[in-house]
Amino acid sequence: MRLTVLGASGTYPRPGGATNGFLVREGGTSLAIELGNGCLSNLLREVELTAVDAVVVTHMHVDHFGDLYPLYYALRFHPRRPWGQRLLLPRGGLELLGRILGEDSREYLPRVFAAETLEAGRDYRVGGMTLRAYPTRHPVEGYALRLEGDGWSMAYSSDSSPCPGVEEAARDVDLFICEATLPASYEEEASHGHMTSRQAGETAARAGARKLVLTHIWPTFDVVDIVREAGETYEGEVLPAREGMTLSLGGG
Ligand SMILES: [Zn+2]
Ligand SMILES: [Zn+2]
Repeated sequence: MRLTVLGASGTYPRPGGATNGFLVREGGTSLAIELGNGCLSNLLREVELTAVDAVVVTHMHVDHFGDLYPLYYALRFHPRRPWGQRLLLPRGGLELLGRILGEDSREYLPRVFAAETLEAGRDYRVGGMTLRAYPTRHPVEGYALRLEGDGWSMAYSSDSSPCPGVEEAARDVDLFICEATLPASYEEEASHGHMTSRQAGETAARAGARKLVLTHIWPTFDVVDIVREAGETYEGEVLPAREGMTLSLGGG
C-alpha cells in the first residue's frame, strides 16, 4: 500500500499547501480520505480523475470536504460522464453539500456522486481494503477511520479530542495519522474538539500504534515544535505530514 499526503494543514492551508487529504493505493485500487481545499490538484498529480474508487469524508467541515465541489464539476462536465463516483460521508452530508449549489447543479449531485452513509461499526469494502468508522469527539458528527489491507493497517483520527473511538481505531496499527492541531500549552483550546501535540502522542502510545504521522497542524504553529512535543509522550517514530509525502506499508 502507498499513502500519499494530499493536504496536511488544519483548517486553512500553509503557503502553497492544502487542507486535509490522503490518497491510499493498493494494487489497482485508489481511495481518497478527505478532500479539503487544494487536494484535488494534488490528487490529479497521482491518479486520473476517473480512477478514484471511493472518496471518504469523515465530517462535514469545509477543510475536509471543500474540494468535493471541483471534483463534482470535473465529473459532471466530463465528456464520458463518469458519474456515480462512490462517496462515503456522514448522514445528511450530500444534502449539506447541495445547499450552496444552485438548483440546476443540486439535482445532479446524487447522480454524479453515489453517496453512502458513513456510520460507526460498519465495514466498508474498497477493493481489497476494509474501512471501519469510529465516533470522534468534535463539534459535529465525525468518524475516525481504521483501514486494513493485505498485511497492513492504518488509522486516521479525523478531527477529535482524545476519546475512546480514536484510540480503538488506532489499536496496534502500523501507521497512525493523528491530528495535532495545537501545541501542548493550548490544552484548554484543544478541549473543544481537537488535540495538542502531547495528546496525539499519548493517544498513539495508548493505542500501541507503531508509527505516528501528525497532521491538521494549524499553520500559525511551528511543525518542528509540535513533532518534538508529541515525542515526549510517544516513543515511536513521529513524522509531520507534508503535501506530496509518500509512505509504503505492507507488501502491496
Ligand atoms: Zn479540520
Ligand atoms: Zn473539523
